[in-house]
Amino acid sequence: MLTSYCLASPQLNWGEDGAPHSTQFDDVYFDKNAGLEETRYVFLQHNNLSERWKKLTTDPASNAHFTIAETGFGTGLNFLCAWQAFIEDAPTNASLHFISVEKFPLDKAALENALKMWPSLQPYSQALIAHYPELSHGLHRLELAQGRIQLTLWFGEAEEGFAALNADVDAWFLDGFAPSKNPEMWSPSLFQHIHRLSHQGTSFATFTAAGIVRRGLQEVGFEVRKVKGFGHKREMAIGELTQQSQSFSERMSQGKAWFNVRPNKTAESPSTTPEVLVVGAGLAGATTAFALAQQGVKVTVWEQGDSIACKASGNPQGMLYPKLASQDTPINRFYLSAYLYASRLYSQLDDQAVFWQQCGLEQRPTNAKEQQRFTQLLNNKLYPESIVRQYDDSGSLFLPLSGWVVLTELCQKLLNHPQIKVSLRTRLSALEKVKQGPHRWLASHQSQQQHFSHVVICTANDTHDLDFLPSTPAYPIRGQVSYLPLDAAQQACTSKNQPLAKLSPTHVLCQAGYVSPPLKDTLHFGATYDIRDSDESVRAESQQRNLRILEELLHLPKETLPEEQCGGRVSFRCAIPDYAPMVGPIASPSELQSHYARLSKNAKWQSHQTHVDQEGLFINIGHGSRGLVSTPLTGHYLANLITNTPSPLEQSIMDKLHPNRFAIRAIKRNEQL
Ligand code: SAM
Repeated sequence: MLTSYCLASPQLNWGEDGAPHSTQFDDVYFDKNAGLEETRYVFLQHNNLSERWKKLTTDPASNAHFTIAETGFGTGLNFLCAWQAFIEDAPTNASLHFISVEKFPLDKAALENALKMWPSLQPYSQALIAHYPELSHGLHRLELAQGRIQLTLWFGEAEEGFAALNADVDAWFLDGFAPSKNPEMWSPSLFQHIHRLSHQGTSFATFTAAGIVRRGLQEVGFEVRKVKGFGHKREMAIGELTQQSQSFSERMSQGKAWFNVRPNKTAESPSTTPEVLVVGAGLAGATTAFALAQQGVKVTVWEQGDSIACKASGNPQGMLYPKLASQDTPINRFYLSAYLYASRLYSQLDDQAVFWQQCGLEQRPTNAKEQQRFTQLLNNKLYPESIVRQYDDSGSLFLPLSGWVVLTELCQKLLNHPQIKVSLRTRLSALEKVKQGPHRWLASHQSQQQHFSHVVICTANDTHDLDFLPSTPAYPIRGQVSYLPLDAAQQACTSKNQPLAKLSPTHVLCQAGYVSPPLKDTLHFGATYDIRDSDESVRAESQQRNLRILEELLHLPKETLPEEQCGGRVSFRCAIPDYAPMVGPIASPSELQSHYARLSKNAKWQSHQTHVDQEGLFINIGHGSRGLVSTPLTGHYLANLITNTPSPLEQSIMDKLHPNRFAIRAIKRNEQL
């Protein structure tokens, strides 16, 4: 468990030529005179990238991709050169996935300073700088060039990052400071992970010919050769993995085959063109469809309602509210990285602030225990200040990257993509696996049927109606939100001698409930949290509760605000008993029982034998009150699984979200499935 998500800064010395030098490692980030040529010579040329990219399929319908992984992101120079070359050499339908790890990330200003040395890379470096993530420990996924270039950055120790990764790498850039100056990074376990993440034919190139690196790679099965180094350097090393006995899914499962998310076929088999059905057009469905479309996949969305976002995702104003914990856990890491991802995506989608206002969010403690938790979180400096800080001198937290969203407009924006076709009033009534091969799912609605390669179920509580799917433990929680026109609130305040300024918070306020800054001259606030309550009607009692919460948030005396002009809306959150969404492939419990029954005798039993009886069928539900935080990243994660590209989530997080977790726990406890 980590004690802080904050990272150590690099110790830099800027030479007169403007190039960064690490005083900590006493080494350079790049050669100031020939940095570009060196990167191209060592990493691009010696991984034979141009040739390999030209051979990627040019079929516009296909989903060709290439994955590079690097040790030491530094200034991002290698990444930018690879991006530039990929655009020049690869077919336009292909995407590049670039993974890099960095323990001492440069901040934005340093990055800008370093990259201005390379004017020919300017369009690429500007995009990188604009999307560069917060300096916080963990995995960060950046989508560049409309999703064609996907950068996965691990901020933290290299070995820890590669251990957490679920990806199939085609070429390695083994950079990093010289082994003599940084021997800790080049550990035996780093080489084991390089092997785990490589398939037969994966290549590597490195600027160094040091024995520790060559031997480390040879010991895990790479064939290693020395070749002439760049410029005055005598030698460097290159090579490839000539044999890999395990399939991609076996390599990723790391003994927990029941949490496998990868297809059983080997990664080397030709990629087929996915054609995906997404069921449900709420936030989960819209973000999943969008992420797939950005990766070049054709998506059909079926929505049974008359409009998109017609259920819980249809509240007029939603806030990005992550509820960050005071301790590091896999679930907290998930919410943290999902939150940062969502905030970046909304800013990217709406740079004109039409439906997304990044105004920040103030979280006030609801009781003494929570106050203690906030104090602990701040005192321990668990999060960087750019993510969470104390609000003024109060006991509240402030999250500057947060804000509010007009949900329907967000969903509209996500679904309005040339690769996405939305069919309303279209209810999935049956789903059958009909044959082997690419388009094996036959989905029915009303009297029509259609084949798809993959199906993603994003139907929240309505999933219970799909009786052809395995059951889920999801349950509904009633939430009534309320609206009050500002002028009605102002009149009430004037008549009770209360200052009007209190009615217009400039950022989102959260405590027992929430209120956002006014939208269209109306205050939106709420929401009730009613367990085991299926009443769909707007109730006066719920309005009153919301009004009292609003008064507390705005520091108004009780019963200042009138109920008469208050509007409301009821919807049902979809919750999961362990408060984590269910995201990943669906398997039938009886299949799990038959393959993994040994877990009931030995809960520590390990298996690499993956069985995917429902290959191509996924679920993305259970986002509770946090859909605005969690769905962009889970949608993106599923798109990566469907296109068989690197996961943006750490393995431990993927396991915690895996839909099989309840069945596996029941098997371990010998309980009825
Ligand atoms: N590839 C980089 C570029 O294009 O600018 C240059 C990399 S620089 C020579 C080496 C990088 O490795 C530094 O940014 C350093 O902070 C990082 N590094 C060193 N030790 C590390 C470790 N144990 N884990 C992760 N990153 C590390």
